[in-house]
Amino acid sequence: MAPIEVFGAHYRSGELWVEGVRLGEVAEKFGTPTFVYSRAALTKAYRQLDEAVGHARSGRPYTICYAVKANSNLAVLNTLARLGAGFDIVSGGELTRVLRAGGEASKVVFSGLGKTAREIAFALKAGIKCFNVESESELLRLNEIAISLGLRAPVALRVNPDVDAKTHPYISTGLKNNKFGIAFDRARAIYRSAAAMLGVKVVGVDCHIGSQLTDATPLVEAMGKIVALADQLAADGIEIHHICPGGGIGVTYENETPIDLTTYAAALERAIGGRSAELLLEPGRAIVGNAGLLLSRVEYVKLGDHKNFLIIDAAMNDLIRPALYQAHHEIVAVRQNSSRGGTEFDVVGPVCESADVLGYSRKLSASAGDLIAVLSAGAYGFVMSSNYNTRPRSAEVMVDGDGVHIVRERETVDNLLSGEHLLP
Ligand SMILES: *Cc1c(COP(=O)(O)O)cnc(C)c1O
Repeated sequence: MAPIEVFGAHYRSGELWVEGVRLGEVAEKFGTPTFVYSRAALTKAYRQLDEAVGHARSGRPYTICYAVKANSNLAVLNTLARLGAGFDIVSGGELTRVLRAGGEASKVVFSGLGKTAREIAFALKAGIKCFNVESESELLRLNEIAISLGLRAPVALRVNPDVDAKTHPYISTGLKNNKFGIAFDRARAIYRSAAAMLGVKVVGVDCHIGSQLTDATPLVEAMGKIVALADQLAADGIEIHHICPGGGIGVTYENETPIDLTTYAAALERAIGGRSAELLLEPGRAIVGNAGLLLSRVEYVKLGDHKNFLIIDAAMNDLIRPALYQAHHEIVAVRQNSSRGGTEFDVVGPVCESADVLGYSRKLSASAGDLIAVLSAGAYGFVMSSNYNTRPRSAEVMVDGDGVHIVRERETVDNLLSGEHLLP
């Protein structure tokens, strides 16, 4: 697992703290399950990338557009906006969040392959930085809507560089047979038609090949391909203002060696060479993944002949990554207990699915009533949670120094039922 400090956490007198706050206190105040974010860890992760890229660029322009879908809590977005971040959104709802959180529309790029007419109009009127267009039909729709509003849509094509990100198939997006992006060999022709459209202004080239990459080679290879495309476009008289190799930088969940950000930034800079284009990045997980944990309480211990189960109050509806991607999350006891050696458990939730397992064969010293922390739950955690089994979604809190702030209240069953109606 990543060193515990990465989470803004440490053990003090045998108990796990996040910054200056005891997790036991968080559970007493806000109940469980609760997502606990660390403002310090979030800030540090953002600054590490910002400093690496800033250093490599040495004065040349760049924007880090945080991928909102990884964790879209308003307090998270506001923290990043205050650090100067731009944002990568995939829906009109995410644009509303960014604006409510104090983000600037002029630093927003809009990705996603199914933008509705309503979302496009909303983003156009808000004045976003760029639409990352994923198909010819989207380009045509964007052009029409912009003309009808008397506006001009800033556009990049999200091209598919056909680079294998070598990550889990569900989070690999840059291969030919993938639903995302525009085929690389068609891009130049589509750029030419875009350049002739009255409602469109070509400003960039974009790609995104996948997520949780722990080797920068495919990212740099993709960057090389889109820089070459930008050169071809320049030869066609189409000037490219920004180049974006997407997000995808991985984090340490278990024993992965993360991408060295300084080396990655330097490689991107080499690929851009002397070109004047701005560099855009769209990282999500790398910023928030290890800035959050899921705090949960053990309900029951179930010992068996073949398996032991630790039944906790968090479940796959709270954190679906293990069930969806066979993802690994480290699980630790909040109170260290060295007198008990620890037992091997499957850590499971109460949801009626055999896939509701947060961790297989974990050696833990914990009994009913104890708190445990599922680590690295800051990205694709709460945002992917559901109400399956009529389970209200968890609370979210953010620790900031010695203070802990509720940043999303726990849902109630009344919240869940409020939109439902009986037949007359
Ligand atoms: C999801 C996504 C990202 C962020 O991916 P991470 O792996 O979290 O960095 C960036 N760009 C696009 C287009 C995405 O869909």
